[in-house]
Amino acid sequence: MSKVPPIILNNGVQMPQLGFGVWQVPDDEAFTAVGAALEAGYRSIDTAAAYGNEEGTGKAIARSGIPREELFVTTKLWNSDHGYDAALRAFDTSLEKLGLDHVDLYLIHWPLPAKDTAVDTYKALEKIYSEGRARAVGVSNFLPEHLERLIDATSVIPAVNQIELHPHLQQRAAREYHDEQGITTEAWSPLGQGKGLLEVPAVVAIAQKHNVTPAQVVLRWHVQLGNVAIPKSVTPSRIKENIDVFSFELDTEDMAAIRALNEDRRLGPDPAEFNEG
Ligand code: NAD
Repeated sequence: MSKVPPIILNNGVQMPQLGFGVWQVPDDEAFTAVGAALEAGYRSIDTAAAYGNEEGTGKAIARSGIPREELFVTTKLWNSDHGYDAALRAFDTSLEKLGLDHVDLYLIHWPLPAKDTAVDTYKALEKIYSEGRARAVGVSNFLPEHLERLIDATSVIPAVNQIELHPHLQQRAAREYHDEQGITTEAWSPLGQGKGLLEVPAVVAIAQKHNVTPAQVVLRWHVQLGNVAIPKSVTPSRIKENIDVFSFELDTEDMAAIRALNEDRRLGPDPAEFNEG
């Protein structure tokens, strides 16, 4: 079974560098998929209130019998729950659905710049953190300008910013800014949602060279950059494949070939303009 190395967050908490994402997995399927992931050796699970599968995720965790302290559970606060009081209530609901008394990481899902509610919302996360009900707090989809404003107005530097990141959207400026601030970069849609990226000739060639799959090449690239990555799959063989990326290494040439694939192309919304919910 693969052993996933940890990343040390800015508050000393350890987070597995590779986790399992469950976006677009219905609640009952999440129970099965998270069960398969835990069986395959994943210890970090990424869910969100908006995914509607915190209950299935929580049931799979309970069923696994894995000691709570060996697991790293992330959930996120949805856009309709921005604001101090609403955020506190949303967190209670998430904990209840997960069947847990704390999470390892609680994130604000989107910054919603037009609403300008991120600072108040984050203050609720700081309270939750101070109570020990989240071992770390952070954000998702924040651009450096959103982080700057947050850091200026609050006291706990986010441990993590979870952003869209894959070889077609390499996010160099954001990663640099995170490094300067001590914020861990977590990649969502790390496989580019499997669309096209895994057929790119350069990726296929590197996979053949190392006798691994294109998905493993892309996940290994994340690992070597120092990102946390949270690939999603509901197929047991792929779930296993995606965590098996710690027994080979990409060389300088491979890393350069993938670096050349950047197109600054988003699959998801632009955080500067996304204000729904
Ligand atoms: P992903 O990049 O993980 O791609 C998943 C898709 O790739 C699968 O549905 C499957 O079609 C394909 N795939 C997976 N493993 C494969 C393999 N080994 N070989 C071939 N194809 C394979 O995309 P994602 O689900 O969008 O992102 C992963 C996780 O990131 C989500 O589940 C969620 O937890 C998180 N996420 C967060 C946000 C956010 O706003 N914070 C947004 C999107 C996703």
